[in-house]
Amino acid sequence: MTQTVGGGTAALRAVMAGPVIDPSDPGYDAARAVWNGDIDRRPTLIARCGSAEDVAAAVRFAQAEGLEIAVRGGGHSMSGQSVVDDGLVIDLSGMCQVSVDPEAMRARVGGGALLKDLDGATQEHGLAVPLGAIGHTGVGGLTLGGGMGWLTRQAGLTIDNLVSVEIVPADGRIVRASATEHPDLFWAVRGGGGNFGVVTEFEFRLHAVGPMIDFGLMFWGEEQAGDALRAIREVVPALPRSLNVIITVMTAPPAPFVPEQHHFRPGIGLLLAGFGDTEEHTSALARVRAALPPLFDHVTPMPYVALQQMLDESNAAGAHYYEKSTYVDDLTDGVVDALVDHLGRRTSPMSIVFIYRLDQAFCEMDELGTAFGGTRSPQYAIFGIAASPTPDLLPADREWSRSLWAALQPHSRGVGTYVNAMTEYEEHRVRAAYGSKYERLKRVKAAHDPRNVFHRNINIVPG
Ligand code: FAD
Repeated sequence: MTQTVGGGTAALRAVMAGPVIDPSDPGYDAARAVWNGDIDRRPTLIARCGSAEDVAAAVRFAQAEGLEIAVRGGGHSMSGQSVVDDGLVIDLSGMCQVSVDPEAMRARVGGGALLKDLDGATQEHGLAVPLGAIGHTGVGGLTLGGGMGWLTRQAGLTIDNLVSVEIVPADGRIVRASATEHPDLFWAVRGGGGNFGVVTEFEFRLHAVGPMIDFGLMFWGEEQAGDALRAIREVVPALPRSLNVIITVMTAPPAPFVPEQHHFRPGIGLLLAGFGDTEEHTSALARVRAALPPLFDHVTPMPYVALQQMLDESNAAGAHYYEKSTYVDDLTDGVVDALVDHLGRRTSPMSIVFIYRLDQAFCEMDELGTAFGGTRSPQYAIFGIAASPTPDLLPADREWSRSLWAALQPHSRGVGTYVNAMTEYEEHRVRAAYGSKYERLKRVKAAHDPRNVFHRNINIVPG
């Protein structure tokens, strides 16, 4: 075994320029660790690629050696799809370069860049790509599944702003896909996940954002939770397009802006960001405050990059995580009751529910124009995230997350889900997420990866 690994390492080193890491390397444990501390896998080799040519060499090498492939962008897959026992990890973390063309309003981004790499580079020009809300997430996995965050109401999902990709499919070629080159492949990578090859470069359209934005947080305690959610649901659908919210079921952190008597108090949080007129932000906060005064609030201007990294620490790598998500049309009484009931049933104070609002620009995109797993009508995406600092607390809150999902089901849009938020692969839910797009995805998969070489993802079996 050791000999095979040693021989494999040398053979792979011979065909690629970037470093190749095997179990004998002192950096092996750090290189195989992924964001979810609940995942512990031991790959045979880790190919830390530095270029599309390295990726192509690694893809060909793995197939020649019969090694299962895992592709690692930011390593944030909840289920640890980006690391594999006894296989080859194609690690893109070295490919995190970002180049911005402010005239053309375009950014080119390496397949292993993190959101904070991209935000940092684009904000130097007062520009941004709509991304997710946590800076250490990978652009790769987030984009390929859709990408929702603070700018979704203003500018759509991340994939709605994707102009082209450079991709290495299973045959090891390096190809570009866009609206005019390999359009089927370009359609499929916008929502169909990592099924079709390794994306070595993303090209995005940019929007003027920041550099300063308005931020507000309001918090209500457990006893006000139902009323708070009902007040929020009245205000959110009428918000101007320049504002967006994240609604949370959470524990108040011991942060400087939280009055000490409320530290560690369970409740409902409303995070409201404003990207336009400060007046609009102020009056939206006033409307919520008038409906139900919060226990405390915190309103401040902040740089857009700070907003994008505000939740980084509370979602740090290495803790133990599980999540289950669903889409609902509205925060109906049934949804509110399920959320309030589960607020007090968490074991770990780190466990949290995130609710994203999807409307405005999100709904203006052609529903069949991308492979996104979901419809484009106004809705909320609800994520029940179990999180614990130690493995022993996770099983209880994993059940809490599943129980919340089950309680929301009668009020949800069905079993379909945002594919980027699936910890367990449930085929019927993947089919439901893609709906009528599923058969087309299978055909594109058959054309570009007929032997299902790239299957460590929300897998579409070639059809
Ligand atoms: P990885 O584990 O590296 O990859 C995930 C999947 O994508 C794997 O199957 C991998 O093989 C594939 N992949 C990654 N990069 C490439 C590439 N370049 N080419 C081909 N395949 C690739 N989602 C949102 O929409 N909005 C959010 O605000 C948001 N916040 C999040 C915050 C946290 C803390 C976490 C853990 C997740 C969040 N997500 C969010 C979900 C996130 O989009 C997915 O977890 C996504 O898969 C992460 O991508 P990654 O590159 O970091 O992960």
